[in-house]
Parts: sequence; structure tokens; C-alpha cells
Amino acid sequence: MKIYKFGGASVRSAEGVANLCRIVKGEQGALFIVVSAMGKTTNALELVLEDFIGGNTASALDRLHEIEQYHREIMAGLLHQGEDFSADGISAGTNRVGALFSELGGLLAAASKRDDYDSWYDRIVSYGELISTTIVSGYLAAQGVPNRWLDMRRCFVTDSRHREANINVDRSTLLLRQAVDAFPEQVFVAQGFIGATPGGCPTTLGREGSDYSAAMAGYILGADSVTIWKDVEGVLNADPRLFSDAVHIPQLTYLDAIELAYSGAQVIHPKTIKPLQNKGIPLYVKPFLAPDHAGTLICGRIDTPIGVPILILKQRQVLISIRPKDFSFVLDESLPEIFSVFNQYRQKINLIQSSAVNLSLCVDDSRYLERVVDTLQTGFRVVYNKGMELLTVRGYDDASYRRFAGAEGVYLVQKTRRTMRVVRLAGLSGVSAVVAK
Ligand code: ADP
Ligand code: ASP
Ligand code: MG
Repeated sequence: MKIYKFGGASVRSAEGVANLCRIVKGEQGALFIVVSAMGKTTNALELVLEDFIGGNTASALDRLHEIEQYHREIMAGLLHQGEDFSADGISAGTNRVGALFSELGGLLAAASKRDDYDSWYDRIVSYGELISTTIVSGYLAAQGVPNRWLDMRRCFVTDSRHREANINVDRSTLLLRQAVDAFPEQVFVAQGFIGATPGGCPTTLGREGSDYSAAMAGYILGADSVTIWKDVEGVLNADPRLFSDAVHIPQLTYLDAIELAYSGAQVIHPKTIKPLQNKGIPLYVKPFLAPDHAGTLICGRIDTPIGVPILILKQRQVLISIRPKDFSFVLDESLPEIFSVFNQYRQKINLIQSSAVNLSLCVDDSRYLERVVDTLQTGFRVVYNKGMELLTVRGYDDASYRRFAGAEGVYLVQKTRRTMRVVRLAGLSGVSAVVAK
């Protein structure tokens, strides 16, 4: 069996879904397809949630209506794609999608207790993937690709760390294998990004988490390979939207890919690589607009060295300096206490630098930042700078060192033998070759 993962960009329009179908039709053997929410639907559902939590039900329903319109346009567009579609298949799908929107609308209108942001997030935002897979599954069927839609809330059992849940491998193995074995179809359509607690509460796996879903499905089903279909040639040495001189990398080791993903390269979710590495399953990153292109192969050993520095830019960063009020040594006595506060608020730490009495941390800007700072301020003096970005250069050379470390607006530079990291002010002109997003 192969795993194919299609992200939001690949299914953002009727043409995208039709293209997915062409790729799937080109595959002969058993296929497990993991699909994200269409286009920017997850962002849109996050705004629905903000209104809902704020008690603004009317606005939440208006936003939901816009999301429904967007999906209906895609379904209408699909009626005109391909030659041998069956209108019945499409209209059955349309009814199921309508039912999902009604269900979500009902939830938004009825709920009176709206205090648990994280668990409401998962209940509401998970609809993005339920809807996209329903459309994809219906269209594939209409195009003569028999397939089975799987509800991943019944296949991936997770812990209850809402918004950032972890998949329980043992329990999920049993359920996913049972689900796949129960059906004669060769093609399965599954949601990325979602699962459920043992009690059945929906959970999500962290933003961009569909890659992680695909990797875990690959691991559990012992797949021959996992392919992530993207709007780029494969993995490049930098985000082409940010660095105009980015070049394609044909092969990467699992280790390089983990470093790249963990440092913030949006192209792969950080949790994707480990499960595949553990079973030696190759991961391909390929362009959905040119399926015959070799893309990038990520595996244990590579034939061609990378040859260029890899640049990863993490935006919306905050540089925090923490100093114990009593001037105790920060590394000796305060670390566990500081880290537990960050952990409590799921605030990711991306870089750490310490001196005797000072700890500098570069972290993602998030809705919990103020609370983290407030909590820490009881025992520590805390100052922070927002509006920063973290640039990681893996395999840096003299030229990249000069280009980035010595530039204006740099607050902190860290170097190991292979990797250089720079915390700098975001959006400064002349800092680098960064172009606006
Ligand atoms: P998906 O549709 O799968 O969610 P994303 O938009 O999240 O896709 O990821 C694809 C984007 O990742 C590309 O369009 C590109 O701008 C960005 N990207 C960031 N870093 C890299 C990199 N090193 N190589 C390729 N693409 C990258
Ligand atoms: N739809 C989710 C997101 O946008 C998951 C994913 O796309 O991987 O974060
Ligand atoms: Mg994405």
C-alpha cells in the first residue's frame, strides 16, 4: 500500500480536486489518501471559533455560511470536470456535505457553555477535513474510482492534549487495521489532522498536522512509501516565497529532514519523519502539478550531497529574557520551573541561550504569550521583544554567515559546526534577500 497526502493548496479548487483524481487514477495498487481541509478553510474555521467563543453567534454563522459557499462552488465546478462523471455520485456527496454544515451550524447555535477554548477548537475546526474528504471521496466515486471514506475520529485514538494531540500507536493500530481490512476497496480516503480521545471527543494534531497523519498511517499500515503532494517541485533549500534564490534538493536524509522541519520549514510537519525513519519507509515530496517529476526523496542514505546551505525562516517570533529576581543561577535552579510554565501553555521554545543569571528564549508568538509572561513574573524579571524572526541556516558557509549574521537588526547569533541561528527583527529592509510574502 502507498500513502498519498494532499494538502490544502492541492484541493483548493475544483481543478485541484480533478487533478488529485487524475493522480489517483494513475496509481494501480492499494492507496490510502490523506486529505487536508480545502484551501484556507482551517484559518476560516479558526475565525468562526473566535466569534463563537466570544459569544458572537450571528457572526460565527455568517462566517460559516461563507465557508459553505466556497465549498459549494467547488462542488459545482466539479460537475463540469472530467468526461465520465456520474451526477448521482456528486449529488450524494453534496447531500453529505450539506449535512455536515448543518451539524456544525447546529453546534454553534446551540452551545451555551463556551469556556474551554482548546476542546471547542477541535470540535469545530475538525469539520474542515470532514468536509473536504467527503467531497473528494464523492468525486472519486463519480469518476469511477471506488473508494471508502474513513472517519479518522474512529481510527486515530489520541491523548486529550487538544489542538496538539498525540496519536496512541497501539490503540490506533488495532482500529485502523480493522477499518482497512473490513472493506474490499483498494482506495481509502481519510482526513488528515484529526483523531479523537478514547472517549470519542474530537482532537486535532497541531496546525499542518495532516503530514503527521499520513506518516502515522504509513507506519501503522506498513506502507511501501508515503508521498506528500505539494505546490512546489519538492523540498527546496528555502521557502521560495521568501527567498527568490531557492533551489530544489533531490534527496535528503531523515536526519536532515527532521532538522529542517523542526526548525520551521513549512514544507513538512516536524512529527512526520520519525515514524517513517523507524520503519525505513521512504518519503517523497512531489509537485501535484507535475506528477512525473521526481520531487524529493527522503530516506536513510542519500547518493547526492545537498551541496547548498538550507535556510529556514520562522516568522512571528518573540525573544524573551528571563532572570531570577533573587539572582540565583538560572541554569542550576530555575530551568524546570520556567520550562513547566511554557509547557503548560503549549508554548513552543525554538531557541535557548543562557548566561549565569539570564535565560534568553525565542518562542512562537501565540495567544498564550501574555499568560506565560504573567505567570513567570511572580518569580522572575521578564522582558520580551515581539516582531522578531528566527533564521536557521543548516550547512552554513562563510558567504551565508556574512550575509545573515553581520546584518542590521540581528539580536542574537548561535553557531554549531553545521548550523547557524539568527534572531533578528522581522521585515527590516536590507537585512537579507527576503521578499514580502
Ligand atoms: P499544504 O498544501 O500541503 O498544506 P503548505 O502550503 O503548507 O502545503 O506547504 C507548501 C509551501 O511550503 C510551499 O508553497 C512553500 O512556499 C513552503 N515552503 C517552506 N519551506 C520550504 C522548503 N524548504 N521547500 C519547499 N517549500 C517550502
Ligand atoms: N488543515 C490543517 C491546517 O491547515 C491541517 C493541515 O493542513 O495539515 O493546519
Ligand atoms: Mg499546509
